Amino acid sequence: MTDFAERLAAVRSQIADACEGAGRSSETVRLLAVSKTRPASTVREAYASGCRWFGENRLQELRDKAAELSDMVDLSWSVIGHVQRNKAGTVVDLADELQSLDSLDLAADLDRRLEVAGRTLDVLVQVNTSEESTKSGLVPDEVEAFTLALRAHTRLVPKGLMTIAMPSTDDREVAACFDKLGVVRERLRDRDGGGWDDLSMGMSGDFQLAIAHGATCVRIGSALFGPRD
Ligand SMILES: *Cc1c(COP(=O)(O)O)cnc(C)c1O
Repeated sequence: MTDFAERLAAVRSQIADACEGAGRSSETVRLLAVSKTRPASTVREAYASGCRWFGENRLQELRDKAAELSDMVDLSWSVIGHVQRNKAGTVVDLADELQSLDSLDLAADLDRRLEVAGRTLDVLVQVNTSEESTKSGLVPDEVEAFTLALRAHTRLVPKGLMTIAMPSTDDREVAACFDKLGVVRERLRDRDGGGWDDLSMGMSGDFQLAIAHGATCVRIGSALFGPRD
């Protein structure tokens, strides 16, 4: 096995263990391989090992990589970083999903461009559960009004919520962030009579804890590809 295949096998088995511990099937957790900063050749190797979802946080980098990998038709790109409004076109051209939606201005731009392109876009609303001012995302109390306003933009298909937990060595603090996302989700489900199924939470350092607290998508970079420069 290649180094990558070994790391992937290890991550998959950790995901399976966490799912088992939570009494869930492994199929309930999607592995998003965070390929930001990695070359297209690395994405190709990950694809060969079975990865299909890749996460990018910079739109120019996504554009370059997608061009190099345009032969891989069933590869899906998820945008997980802040999107400036002048990059909305790249999201509409290339992304299969946007996990970091936190602006209604951006939502309006995306909706307009999606209409022209004749497509829809799955979105997750990013929530700042650690309430650190440096993080993007809505504070939990803003999510209800935001998601109501989002209904005007019918080309955006709300799938769930995304968060980056507090970078803490104390599992209780990290878990509190995950639980907060679950509480926000329950409020939306009560209001809307369901939906909001996706909870994207958990990265290399905390994905098992995230699964224990209900994650349906884990975003993993360094545990798969090694440390970033
Ligand atoms: C970089 C990044 C990740 C992956 O981080 P690792 O610690 O390398 O797994 C996950 N989510 C977001 C939003 C990121 O920007």
